[in-house]
Amino acid sequence: MSRTAADGIVVVGGGYAGVHAARSIIRAGRRAFIVDPTGQHDYVTRLAAVAGGTAPTVDASSPLTDFSDDVIVASMVAVDDGVVTLDDGRELTADAVVVTAGAVPSTPPIPGIELAAPLRTADDALALRERVDIATSVVIIGGGATGVQLAGAIASRHRHTRVSLIEADTSLLAAMRPETGRDAARILLGRGVDVRLGSGVERIEDGAVVVDGESIDGLVVWAAGFSPRAAKLGCPTTATGRIDVDETLLVRGTERTFAAGDIAGHVDADGSEFAMSAQVAVQAGAAAGDNAVRVANGETPDPVTLDHRGWVLDLGGCRGLAEVGPLTFSAPFLDVVPPLLHWGIDVKHLLDSRGFEGLLDRPR
Ligand SMILES: Cc1cc2nc3c(=O)[nH]c(=O)nc-3n(C[C@H](O)[C@H](O)[C@H](O)COP(=O)(O)OP(=O)(O)OC[C@H]3O[C@@H](n4cnc5c(N)ncnc54)[C@H](O)[C@@H]3O)c2cc1C
Repeated sequence: MSRTAADGIVVVGGGYAGVHAARSIIRAGRRAFIVDPTGQHDYVTRLAAVAGGTAPTVDASSPLTDFSDDVIVASMVAVDDGVVTLDDGRELTADAVVVTAGAVPSTPPIPGIELAAPLRTADDALALRERVDIATSVVIIGGGATGVQLAGAIASRHRHTRVSLIEADTSLLAAMRPETGRDAARILLGRGVDVRLGSGVERIEDGAVVVDGESIDGLVVWAAGFSPRAAKLGCPTTATGRIDVDETLLVRGTERTFAAGDIAGHVDADGSEFAMSAQVAVQAGAAAGDNAVRVANGETPDPVTLDHRGWVLDLGGCRGLAEVGPLTFSAPFLDVVPPLLHWGIDVKHLLDSRGFEGLLDRPR
C-alpha cells in the first residue's frame, strides 16, 4: 500500500455536498482534492427530467475538473481520521477530509428487486432514457420526489406511453404537506398516469410488477428510497445508518474528518434528522468545507446550523409543485411557478459552486 500526502484537503465524492465543500476550500486559498470514481458531477435533481426526456442529456453531468483542478478518479474504501484509503490501494493523508459519498437506491427484500432500473446517477438516467424512449408501458415504484418527477416527465414527453406510479402510502409525497401530495396526484392523473396509492409490491419480474395480486406489465423503475453509502467505512453511524456527525459536522470521535450530504445524519434544531435533499447537502457541504479549512489552519471548527427551506419539484410540461417556507405553490393556477423556481435553484447551484464561468459553460 502506498501512502501519499495530499497537500491540501481531500473531499470524498463530487456530488452536491462535495462540489460546495471544494468551492469553500478553494475560495479560502487551499487545494481541494476531489476523489470520485466517476470523475463527474451529476446534477441529480435534473435526472428525472433527463430520464423522462423533458431535459437534454447535457443536463445530466459535468466533468469534476470544472469544479477543481485536483480530481482523483478513484473510490474511497475506508476512512480514518485524516486518512482516506482508495480502491487502487493508495492511502491519502490530508490536513482535513470531507466525506460526501452520497447514497444508493435502497434494496428492501422484495423478490426480483435487482430487475428494477435504478435512478440515482447520470449513467442511470441516460440508460433509463433510452429504455423509456422505446417502452410502451413504464411502472414506477415509489411516489416520493423521484417517482413523482419521473412520472410527470415521462407522461409529459411520451403521451402514448402508459405510466403507472405505485406508492405504498395512502398519499403521494408523504414527506411534504398533504395538499402538495394531492396536487401531485391531480397533475399526474390529468396526464393519464395510473396512480395507485396504498399498494404493496409483492414481487418484481422481468418486465412486470406484481401489486396486490395484479401483474402490471412495463419497464420497471425503482424510485422508493435511498440508503447512505456509510456501511463498511468504519465510521460511527446513526439509527438510520448515516454517519454520525457532531454540531461542527466532524465525524463523531475524530478531529479532522467531516461528513456532509446524504451520507451524514444532519439534524435540525430539535435533533430530528433531515430528509436527504440537495439543498441540505449544499449547505452542509459548504459549511464542512469552511470547517475543514479552519482545522487545516489549526483553528477550532464552528458549530453549523442547517435548515430545510422547502421543496421544489419539476413535473415537466411547465408544471410543478413547491413548498417554500409557509407558502405552497400547488394550486392549478400556480403550477407554472415551481419549474421556474427549480431553474433558479439550478442556476444558483452553478453560480455558488463554479461562479459565472459555470453559467457560461452551461446555458439553459
Ligand atoms: C431523481 C432524483 C431527484 C431529486 N430531486 C431533488 C430535488 O428536486 N430537490 C432536492 O433537494 N433533492 C432532490 N433529490 C435528492 C438529492 O439529489 C440528493 O439529496 C443529493 O444529490 C445529495 O447530495 P450528496 O452530495 O450527498 O450526494 P450525491 O449528489 O449523490 O453525490 C455523491 C457523490 O459521491 C460519489 N461517490 C460514491 N461512492 C464513492 C466512493 N466510495 N468514493 C468516492 N466518491 C464516491 C458519487 O459518484 C457522487 O458523485 C433528488 C434525488 C433523485 C435521485
